[in-house]
Amino acid sequence: MTNVTLITGDGIGPEIAEATRRCIDATGAKINWELAEAGVDVMERTGTALPDATIESVKKNGIALKAPITTPVGKGFRSINVYLRQTLDLYACLRPCKSYKGVRSRYSDIDLVVVRENTEDLYAGIEFQKGKDDTAELINWINIHGSRKISTDSGISIKPISVRATERIVRFAFDYARKMGRKKVTSVHKANIMKFTDGLWLEVSRDVAKKYPDIEFEDRIVDNMCMQLIQKPELYDVIVLPNLYGDILSDLCAGLVGGLGVAPGANIGDKGAIFEATHGSAPKYKGQNKVNPAALILSGVLMLRHMGKTDEAEALENAVAVVIAEGKNVTYDMKADRNDPTAVGTSEMADAIIEKINRS
Ligand code: NAD
Repeated sequence: MTNVTLITGDGIGPEIAEATRRCIDATGAKINWELAEAGVDVMERTGTALPDATIESVKKNGIALKAPITTPVGKGFRSINVYLRQTLDLYACLRPCKSYKGVRSRYSDIDLVVVRENTEDLYAGIEFQKGKDDTAELINWINIHGSRKISTDSGISIKPISVRATERIVRFAFDYARKMGRKKVTSVHKANIMKFTDGLWLEVSRDVAKKYPDIEFEDRIVDNMCMQLIQKPELYDVIVLPNLYGDILSDLCAGLVGGLGVAPGANIGDKGAIFEATHGSAPKYKGQNKVNPAALILSGVLMLRHMGKTDEAEALENAVAVVIAEGKNVTYDMKADRNDPTAVGTSEMADAIIEKINRS
């Protein structure tokens, strides 16, 4: 038995977590689930949204499946998702985007993997608010020492890109490509404009690529990449990007394959990995046994592959694909008409997937 932490989340989290756990168990993957809580429900009960026991469990097991967690809007509540990624240094965000027959989309046969750097860039949180003393000091320094002037009524966000973080994420992309039998890695940037940050990213990408002669390498400027993905997505395979472009292009690629219902994800570091759907906690559907469990189940497929349980991963992915393709035992969002009365609930869709696993 392998220990895995199951963070049940809040909103629709507990329902899809349970559906996913049952589907993974049906593959015979022999997982010993360690249940852990996080989110607004446990916050209301205990006063903390992320109990120490949950962090300890993930650290101990090194692997977690996580249902979505609400980030209430307002002061004093940090995003637990961001906190977990930072605390565990989960530097790679992996988002495979694959077409499944039966999912409504403008494209078919898409099979892309987006690898997003998770720790740096404009998302590092180094910001200076307009009108503050330290902001004025910084603007003054730049206006004296820089080649361009900044208006004194500006706010500033800093964009750090380091050799270390770029090297490890590009290496991650190549290692993933090699492990999964993929042929090409495309590094995305805006090096023509931001020479010292994106330029450095590109230079490091090229250096890392030299160590992987078996995998094709190319680079693209981010605006061109957006157009290419819409026009010729079949040309791309693994795409590696800095944090901000990665955030935007992962949603673009999720859109290519039909949206949130089938968008799995993972945040991976050297000491641990958390597997989670791209979508959030959809609080308005909480407790209704209504939403689609497929994105979290497909995140479970990624987890099984990460654990080396390839046969179990294949069996689970095939079962999800067949259920979606048949279009019968699927939730409302996968029906042509969202009010289709034949739509089934979360739990029933999981039952249908389990039945396919048992028959395979
Ligand atoms: P959301 O993804 O929760 O929901 C947006 C809409 O998408 C829902 O109203 C619903 O119509 C649909 N939807 C989402 N998941 C679905 C599913 N499994 N099946 C069918 N339909 C589904 O996005 P939001 O409303 O912007 O965010 C709600 C909360 O979730 C926020 O607090 C946000 O911070 C949080 N969030 C958490 C994570 C995470 O835990 N990783 C990710 C994104 C958002």
